[in-house]
Amino acid sequence: CGIVGYIGKRVAIPVLVDGLKKLEYRGYDSAGVAVLDSEQIVVSKSVGKLAALEGELGQNYSQACIGIGHTRWATHGRPSQLNAHPHCDCKQDFVVVHNGIIENYLELKDMLIEKGHSFTSETDTEVLAHLLEEYFDGNLEGTMRKVLKTIRGSYAVVALRRQEPDKLIAARKDSPMVIGLGEGEFFVASDITAILNYTRQVYILEDGEMVTITEDGVQVSDFEGSLREKEVYEVKWDA
Ligand code: GLU
Repeated sequence: CGIVGYIGKRVAIPVLVDGLKKLEYRGYDSAGVAVLDSEQIVVSKSVGKLAALEGELGQNYSQACIGIGHTRWATHGRPSQLNAHPHCDCKQDFVVVHNGIIENYLELKDMLIEKGHSFTSETDTEVLAHLLEEYFDGNLEGTMRKVLKTIRGSYAVVALRRQEPDKLIAARKDSPMVIGLGEGEFFVASDITAILNYTRQVYILEDGEMVTITEDGVQVSDFEGSLREKEVYEVKWDA
């Protein structure tokens, strides 16, 4: 239901949880965050309110500076800790959060199980992580494009790869997504209000756009890989 992503110099978890709190009004049944810490994906999730996730995280949470967060409104798979996002592939190389519905997930899941993947959730979303693992060819963006061509449905998706701890990739189709532009730090969100505490300069993504974000900047392209020029939108209103 809600997505937040962060890459920069701050400790990511408080930024992600703060952003998710701004999205609480949309409703959700569970929540989770994942960060990349010393090239390991560290996932925390819980059913119920964000306070429960904060309890789960405790005081000694990871100090990593890149991560993704999600509040879930279950469409496929009941509300549960296992079904909460983020979701990983078998090797824990990829982690994703997703808003929307992957319509052809059952056939993709069957195909992936046939190839030896095992699933830990009942969600449509989990196929995204396994498809990234299955298709990975050394190039994260190219692999994501292949995944996007394989899936049908609506999505705002953000993904991280364990071995590329300075990169966040995202894409959208029929589900909103904005990129927040800070000084040496960047944000992804399903709704501007999630990041207004940090920046007022945003790119508003359109359907069929994908982004690669590193600490150095943001590159927007279409699903074919052609670069897109984006205009910076300055947010003048307050949440
Ligand atoms: N379809 C996904 C699920 O049920 C995402 C739902 C959402 O947008 O929160 O897990």
